[in-house]
Amino acid sequence: MTAHMTTQWIELADGVLVRRYAELDFSVGLVIGEHTALVIDTRSDPAQGAQLRAAVREGTQHPCTVVLTHAHFDHCLGTAAFLPAPVWAHPRCRDDLARGGAAQYAEALAFSRAQRMPRDPELVRPVVPDHLVTEPVEIDLGGRRVLLTHPGLGHTDHDIAVWSPDTGVLFAGDLLEQGADPDFTDAYPLHWPAAVTELLRLRPRIVVPGHGNPVDATFAAAQRDDLATLANLCQAVLNGELDPEDAVSASPFSSSTTLTALARLHLPG
Ligand SMILES: [Zn+2]
Repeated sequence: MTAHMTTQWIELADGVLVRRYAELDFSVGLVIGEHTALVIDTRSDPAQGAQLRAAVREGTQHPCTVVLTHAHFDHCLGTAAFLPAPVWAHPRCRDDLARGGAAQYAEALAFSRAQRMPRDPELVRPVVPDHLVTEPVEIDLGGRRVLLTHPGLGHTDHDIAVWSPDTGVLFAGDLLEQGADPDFTDAYPLHWPAAVTELLRLRPRIVVPGHGNPVDATFAAAQRDDLATLANLCQAVLNGELDPEDAVSASPFSSSTTLTALARLHLPG
């Protein structure tokens, strides 16, 4: 976590901003057009979402549209503050949130207790997205367009990335991570590298990960290569050609990250 990080908007390109938070080293995106502002992820609870909405209002009075990169609690539980904004997400993100948020609440509770936060989070029913990204969707923000796309199985089975073609900025959600290992808790280790390769085809100039600092395409390609190395190790374990402990030793990621990935392979026995 960056020691001197202060919460503020950082302008990556004209009208394309990232807001960085010390908590979870988290980033929210904002793309401002001539008539609409697109908010990318809404933080961990309704109060944080309301703070974010006020921060958005500092920069623009345009009506907001929201896109959720995925259904992990830190990305999606602040949405209520933006209603009646349209809320975009992948259908499986919608399905996950429509279950009522018990899984997200359990994760938020585990996080707050691990961080020794003074109060437990509130159990809130998440806002259920009402606009679905079933294929790549272009949204007209006025004078500029953004593309919402699901590049395949990766960090979850429903990640959405946001591409700003006129500025070359890509918001990758948790498909990429800076400053810490990618999180495999709900991931598809064998498929994840291909999803990042798909995003790199856009030839982004700046890539904004869900956690950590914005990076360049070289960083993103290097992390894709690390994801591919781990995928190959996972496949070898799956084939019975490699012991899990040898996969851990050869992995570009930490042992706990690698063991989490191996646990996602549903090995027989
Ligand atoms: Zn996540």
